[in-house]
Amino acid sequence: MDRATMQERFDRLVWRVEEARIKRSEHHIVKIVAVSKYTDEESIRLLYDLGQRAFGESRVQSLQERVEKLDDLPIEWHYIGRLQKNKINHLIRANPFLMQSLDSLELAEAMQKRLAENGVTMECLMQINSAREESKAGVEPEKAEEVYLAIKESCPNIDLRGLMTIGAHVDDESVIRESFETTYSIFERLKNEGAQICSMGMSRDFELAIECGSNMIRVGSILFE
Ligand SMILES: *Cc1c(COP(=O)(O)O)cnc(C)c1O
Repeated sequence: MDRATMQERFDRLVWRVEEARIKRSEHHIVKIVAVSKYTDEESIRLLYDLGQRAFGESRVQSLQERVEKLDDLPIEWHYIGRLQKNKINHLIRANPFLMQSLDSLELAEAMQKRLAENGVTMECLMQINSAREESKAGVEPEKAEEVYLAIKESCPNIDLRGLMTIGAHVDDESVIRESFETTYSIFERLKNEGAQICSMGMSRDFELAIECGSNMIRVGSILFE
């Protein structure tokens, strides 16, 4: 992609986020994570050069490769994909800024063991399956608070910072809204427990997500496709 096209897309995105966040509140700040899974390193460098600092990857191997190849740039890397237990050590080595897809107590306990062995900690978000879709990972909304507290209790090397969800994959806006509202209400109840980040909204639904309280969006195709 050429620089002018990237600049135009990025500016347009920033303006739409700006309008959506001000609609909610002047004090509501939203962080943009550019999901680079569809694109090449050159486009990541281009977007970095235009001012973007947070990037997300959904495969451990791609994350590792990019952390290495782009280590001349102080990029903040986010891991947003499903994590298989046999990849935990690879993820620890890649050392992301934020792991957003902690989707069960079982995974948390497996990560805890490896993190402790390596003598490191990792900042994570717990993923909620807010649309209750079979194909999606995440903790069921009904069990979310209980599981969040259990992870906090039993995993001292995991620093839980909040929640992540993927909106319902449907056309009906009211159904998507419901999945965001469900997640936001859990987030509000967990604020006492230190939850600060509510990561929701992708290219197709980030304005709605921000309207529902999201303070972190993860967008890929709108920038890179
Ligand atoms: C791919 C992906 C995104 C970005 O999706 P777009 O629709 O391209 O914006 C966000 N979150 C997760 C978890 C993803 O896997």
